[in-house]
Amino acid sequence: MNLSLVIPVYNEQENLPFLFEAVYKTMNTLQKSWEVILVDDGSRDESLSVLSEYAQKDPGHIRVVSFRRNFGQTAAIAAGLDYSQGEIIVLLDADMQNDPADIPMMLAKLDEGYDLVSGWRKDRKDNAVTRNFPSMLANRLISRVTGVHLHDYGCTLKAYRRDVLEGFRLYGEMHRFIPVYANSVGANITEVAVRHHPRQFGKTKYGLERTVKVILDLFTVKFLVSYSSKPIYLFGGTGMALIFIGLADLLYLFIRRFWNVPASTSPLLPIGVMFAIMGFQSVLMGLIAEQLVRTYHESQHKPTYTIRTKINLDKGIDD
Ligand code: UDP
Ligand code: MG
Repeated sequence: MNLSLVIPVYNEQENLPFLFEAVYKTMNTLQKSWEVILVDDGSRDESLSVLSEYAQKDPGHIRVVSFRRNFGQTAAIAAGLDYSQGEIIVLLDADMQNDPADIPMMLAKLDEGYDLVSGWRKDRKDNAVTRNFPSMLANRLISRVTGVHLHDYGCTLKAYRRDVLEGFRLYGEMHRFIPVYANSVGANITEVAVRHHPRQFGKTKYGLERTVKVILDLFTVKFLVSYSSKPIYLFGGTGMALIFIGLADLLYLFIRRFWNVPASTSPLLPIGVMFAIMGFQSVLMGLIAEQLVRTYHESQHKPTYTIRTKINLDKGIDD
């Protein structure tokens, strides 16, 4: 299997026929074996029956997973990835806002040697106030914090080589951070402008509240990508800084005593003590985190590195 399309579906009954039409139109032009994994995320409309109809007609290409209830877009994508077999994965939305006609162009980029090609909805057709504007701010923040510079993390349409994300689990709103994770394991990433269409049928499932979740996920991702194998550097570093400030503050109070300035009435006393205690706590938290990291890596035999190729080393270290 060369290519797997992974598509999350939640209440998209009217869009699905158009989606299938566009997918077939594009896939029939490609010289690749392909499959589509459609994940019905607990739809309450007729999406599932539409999906099963298409799956029955074309069992060689169309595969369907259906959730018992709505678990969210990220979970749906995660399930799609779990059941997909292609060496190349393409993610896209079911609502025809992404255009399957962009897929060949993205695959051509992969052939140029990239491991991941991320779509950029340059001319995005969503609500300006509740979606586009907050999304622009969030994108800038993510770009700044993660050091992975893309314009549009939120675009579902992405193509990548399966092996760069082997072992990566998706939580929360994390599918948008796939490029950040891929970058952290050394993948070559690029971005291409893709078409974006207004929604014809059904409603968007998201509003302003999504931005908050995205920002919270950004904390997690930054932590996991930058510190997950060395948390003591973050906790310990913060802790040492706090201890230093606390002790400097207390030292200042102590020295002032020589000029008979009372320390006990100064607000600097509780502040200094508080900083020192918080710092000490933070260092201890870092030590616990270090312990957790070891459990994580050693219990699951997860190495702390990722390998691109091996030469004359066919046997794995576990064999
Ligand atoms: N989706 C899903 N589960 C959800 C919400 C959305 O599978 O809980 C799917 C939805 O059917 C669509 C894609 O995720 O295929 C993107 O959703 P939507 O179009 O509502 O997001 P927007 O384009 O407005 O960001
Ligand atoms: Mg949409």
